[in-house]
Amino acid sequence: MNVHDSEKIAGILTAKNYELAYNPNEADLIIFNTCSIRQKAEQKFYSQLGKLKILKKKNPKLKIAVAGCIAQQEGDNLIKKVPYVDHVLGPQNLEFFNNIFEEKEKILALEENPHLQYLELPIKRIDKVKAFVNIMYGCDNFCSYCIVPFTRGRERSRPSSAIIKEVKQLSEQGFKEVILLGQNVNSYKSQYDFPGLLRELNRVGENIKRIRFVTSHPKDFSLDLIHAIRDLDKVCEHIHLPLQSGSDKILELMNRKYSFKEYMKKIEILKKEIPNIAITSDIISGFPQETEEDHKQTINALREIEFDGIFAFKFSKRRGTKASQMEGHIAEEVKSERLSEILKIQDEITERKNKELEGTIQEILIEGFSEKSADQLTGRTRTNKIFVSQKSNKILPGDIVKALIIKGNKHSIFGNFLI
Ligand code: SAH
Ligand code: SF4
Repeated sequence: MNVHDSEKIAGILTAKNYELAYNPNEADLIIFNTCSIRQKAEQKFYSQLGKLKILKKKNPKLKIAVAGCIAQQEGDNLIKKVPYVDHVLGPQNLEFFNNIFEEKEKILALEENPHLQYLELPIKRIDKVKAFVNIMYGCDNFCSYCIVPFTRGRERSRPSSAIIKEVKQLSEQGFKEVILLGQNVNSYKSQYDFPGLLRELNRVGENIKRIRFVTSHPKDFSLDLIHAIRDLDKVCEHIHLPLQSGSDKILELMNRKYSFKEYMKKIEILKKEIPNIAITSDIISGFPQETEEDHKQTINALREIEFDGIFAFKFSKRRGTKASQMEGHIAEEVKSERLSEILKIQDEITERKNKELEGTIQEILIEGFSEKSADQLTGRTRTNKIFVSQKSNKILPGDIVKALIIKGNKHSIFGNFLI
């Protein structure tokens, strides 16, 4: 979501003929598009911002803008704390970038934007193969640990017609994959509901071969959506379905609105209807009042479900959220220990599942060259596993090819092209 917001900021400024600077020393404006989902992201931002003090002294004309969720949360406090920040723009106010160079005063744009879903901003995309498409903004779920409903505001669905139009254009531009973005895509509601939108998008654009989406909230994950994933050829066999915890007590404290049993039921139906589905998840370790027994239930859940991969995080106290006020906060060392155990067990499962693919033939969308070696191409399976292969003269980014999987590793699978 945040990366795509950056594409919009770059889109607005390039539409006004400004160019990207590749070195802070050359820039007239430096923009931080910040994330405040966890403390670590905030710390990173403040340490980067601190480094600009000297640059600003050397070049008084340099402007510094802070956008994103930290901007929204801190507001004018940010300017009080760090006086060399010039502009503060929340994630619902990106259109203020239109006048950022003309504006003589400091911009402080933090209002809730009730029309965000109708706003169509220019986008400068960083990728040529896959493209992010917003389908909704904000979130109304108020999970007790989460800052998003406070920074991104109320949930609003973008009109289906605008989404369909964007996907058509992406196809004309040669994109192969679209990734639909929303905090809880299952509560999408406009001309179509979410499975209905997928059915429409499955028919749009000759070039688009794959449709993905993030994120699904388990409480709204429906049988109709399972059928849409099963039946629609472009919708990939991968679902990211954050569990957060295996303990009902913790799920209740988190305000997730499902029990572990209800979650499992959906997983069972998913696996039955779509046997080759890949399921990934998010887990939080050390939520307030989490006992060793609650933690064990999460470990057992990981073993029982066998996710293809997870993102796991230590609980991070976010100002203004319910969880930050709860009793029974867990010591940092305990959170870390539990997180390590979670990651260790999941790594074993992920590696084993990747090894199970050895000897199979997979459809790969080639995304580009490997960061580690220019002799290697990388891509993804339909199930979202990272694929690596030796370069071939006949294969380019954007191609969809069949490959024989030779080796499954912890974080990727390696194979040979079948051409
Ligand atoms: N809307 C999506 C994504 C939310 S943020 C969803 O509901 O799944 C992505 C992940 O960050 C969450 O799933 C959660 O696991 C994690 N997260 C959010 N707030 C957090 C916090 N305060 N501490 C630790 N992890 C957090
Ligand atoms: Fe945060 Fe919950 Fe909304 Fe996801 S669904 S953004 S975790 S409040």
